[in-house]
Amino acid sequence: MNNFDVMVTDISYLYSNDGNVIPYLRISPFINCSENNFITGIPLTLMENESDFDVAPGDRVSVSINGIKFLVKITDRIVTDRSDIRIITCPICHQPMVFENGFSYCHNCDCRAQLETHIHSTFREYGVEFVGNNLRILVSVISRLLVRSPVDLFWLTTEQISSEDVSVDDARFFQQTIHAVRGNITLFQFFRSLNVHGMTDEIINSIVALMNSLNFSILDVPKLMDVELMNSHPEINWYPWLQFISYENNRIYISRLSGVMYI
Ligand SMILES: [Zn+2]
Repeated sequence: MNNFDVMVTDISYLYSNDGNVIPYLRISPFINCSENNFITGIPLTLMENESDFDVAPGDRVSVSINGIKFLVKITDRIVTDRSDIRIITCPICHQPMVFENGFSYCHNCDCRAQLETHIHSTFREYGVEFVGNNLRILVSVISRLLVRSPVDLFWLTTEQISSEDVSVDDARFFQQTIHAVRGNITLFQFFRSLNVHGMTDEIINSIVALMNSLNFSILDVPKLMDVELMNSHPEINWYPWLQFISYENNRIYISRLSGVMYI
């Protein structure tokens, strides 16, 4: 374990593709861990004291490094105007964050911060990797604000996809790649593609088994928002699912996605 005394110069946030948002402290001087290995900032997941989450630029902090873990403690509070830096609403989509095990997550399917990684992970579950021209087109339609969630990709027309940089032929090929997955996706793949935080394969398997016993298809997934149905099957750990569908955006997303598979 190594200890360093540094100043906080700025606070920003790190986003991951599962919606996790971590406060990130930029520091001065940089920490020289070993030869050619400088640490310029610290992802803030561990505070020695819970009350130290009111850290502010200008503060001096002590940083203990143990492997990839950083334990931070404020040693000198410089500024007087300060507040808890953990965020309660997503800075990008403004939906409420959910706190779990010291981390805060944005569970909103339509969150722009997660869009590109979300599209990749969704389609990976369907067996599609965006590479080459398709990757270029994906980045293009995202930057032109044509998609807000993975399901929007199914609705793009050739005219929308093609642009100065995207030929009509390439646009058609992109469209075919997207639409080829429809009708072939299993319930298991469908749930995996939703990327529901905390929903393990084991939970998905138990939900799929229930749906099979009820003769439910992907089109029936929206019926799983019925609390009575969930209550009558307490053997299933519904908690991650309940968290997920508590967002209106996610409920709409599930309905649209399950519907598009059958159009
Ligand atoms: Zn968000």
